[in-house]
Amino acid sequence: MSCDTFKPLLMGYLDEELTALEAVRVEQHLEECHDCTAELDDFRKLKEVTRNMRVVMPDDKYWDEYWSNIYNRLERKAGWILLSLGSIILSAYGLYWVIAEVFLDKNVHPVIRIGVLTLIVGFCTLLVSVLRERFFLSKSDKYERIKR
Ligand SMILES: [Zn+2]
Repeated sequence: MSCDTFKPLLMGYLDEELTALEAVRVEQHLEECHDCTAELDDFRKLKEVTRNMRVVMPDDKYWDEYWSNIYNRLERKAGWILLSLGSIILSAYGLYWVIAEVFLDKNVHPVIRIGVLTLIVGFCTLLVSVLRERFFLSKSDKYERIKR
């Protein structure tokens, strides 16, 4: 039989998709035909290359890391939000407690009142300053941040 009969079967032979009889016939032909053997080698190399390409494609591990990175970022953001929220609640309560204890109690010495008031004003000034700087920085670009 001629090569034309076998060439369409070579890919199937490589993928082991032929019947036993077809496979035997192809093998017999390959033993005496250099041309078809060379073509089968080419197919084999092509198959190798496509398999290697598949390894380069993002695999499950890549996507696992991708999602765990996103999860980590969300986790950290949520942590910061909770932390800020907690400190705001405690600060507000502390402020309320200090005002109630120090300013409504007539027995507290005026110097302590002045000291506490100064502390509160200082704390609030710092807080406002930090918040304004944050707000300003987030609006300005990276170049301005480097200049500072
Ligand atoms: Zn041949």
